[in-house]
Amino acid sequence: MRIGTLARTIAESPTLALNDKANQLKAQGEALIHLGSGEPKSMAPIDAILAASAKLVSADVKYTPTAGILPLRKAVIAYTEQHYGRTVSPKNVMVAAGAKPALYAALAAMVDPGDEVVFPAPYWVSYPEMVRMVGGRPVVVAPPDGAFEPLRGDLEAAITDRTKAVILNSPNNPSGAVYSRDLIAWLVELCERRDIFLIMDDIYHQLVFDGCTAPSAFAFTDRPIDESRVIVINGVSKVYAMTGFRIGWAVGAREVIEVMTNIQAQSTSCPSALLQAAALGALQGDQSGVESLRLTLMTHRDVLVRELAAIPGVRVTVPKGTFYCLPDFRAYDGDSMRLSGFLLDRALVATVPGKDFGMEGHLRISYCGSVREIVEGVRRIRWALDPDSPRDIHIGDRLCTRDW
Ligand code: PMP
Ligand code: GLU
Repeated sequence: MRIGTLARTIAESPTLALNDKANQLKAQGEALIHLGSGEPKSMAPIDAILAASAKLVSADVKYTPTAGILPLRKAVIAYTEQHYGRTVSPKNVMVAAGAKPALYAALAAMVDPGDEVVFPAPYWVSYPEMVRMVGGRPVVVAPPDGAFEPLRGDLEAAITDRTKAVILNSPNNPSGAVYSRDLIAWLVELCERRDIFLIMDDIYHQLVFDGCTAPSAFAFTDRPIDESRVIVINGVSKVYAMTGFRIGWAVGAREVIEVMTNIQAQSTSCPSALLQAAALGALQGDQSGVESLRLTLMTHRDVLVRELAAIPGVRVTVPKGTFYCLPDFRAYDGDSMRLSGFLLDRALVATVPGKDFGMEGHLRISYCGSVREIVEGVRRIRWALDPDSPRDIHIGDRLCTRDW
């Protein structure tokens, strides 16, 4: 078939593909442990459920304004004031069907064919493909070996006259790193001086540990919002455990939000009226679920780090946020695809290869599952990698053999 040449080269999402595979294996009765997942297991807030139910029962479910219903944009304004100390107007906000489409609309609004978009590794799997989908060229900046924060000099060297935007995701998927204030302040100044958009993917910003906060780019620009080059992307997926509700948003200068809204008007009309009601319920409702999720994740992080420490040679950088950890397995195998495939086949543990995040030799391990899953999953990894462990064990009904 005469499918577009560029479109043919767009890779499937490895994280979503792994979810499908994990669900398939579980449905076949395999005792799979999914340590590759990217969503909290807690329930969506009751306020979100009730608000969506009330909206449905009203039967008034019609198109909404393209940029989102005004009460939801106002709730995003209140959220921006509370968390970033920034006052913005409804024209600075676009609600989308998730942070992912908000990010895509932002890139589509900025990038001309051949423009470059710079982001550090490790990066979220969708950034390179999204940049290419809008005709841009992804430019990846690797951190120094053993670190997860890029050096200023390396970022600066990657920024050229063709750079339209820089994307920063902090706390970071997949490493759990929270970038330093210094780096963010420096980058805001550089981007604004050189007229480059700085897209901050803040989807995990409340999920931080050990008393740390994720510094916000808005804190380092004294320009009025309509003059600023900072665009903040956020949503209800992670912090409110509402991944399937598909609501996210972008906050930024009116000029870019307007163009993003036109793109959304011509591609999706508007996010679902029902789910906007749910997101409004979450934002205006009881917030205690966010803190309990954060505390649960911090405990799970501690369990995961403790269990991983029992595998000799695996280097772990303790995550400061998110629900991911990116241990270095190069002592066992530098090929993360092969290692992840081996662990899935032989030990029935799903992890995401670091290669998909631009960090070969590492595996992304999620700790959003239960403590039992984390402990059992890492125990299986240890068994599979340890040459002195028994060659055969039973996992569920399956006899597993750990031969390389
Ligand atoms: N950014 C990052 C870094 C993510 O991990 C995710 C997870 N899917 C998203 C954006 C997109 O989130 P959403 O579900 O709101 O589209
Ligand atoms: N963001 C999550 C992850 O990285 C969910 C899957 C996706 O949207 O890629 O696993």
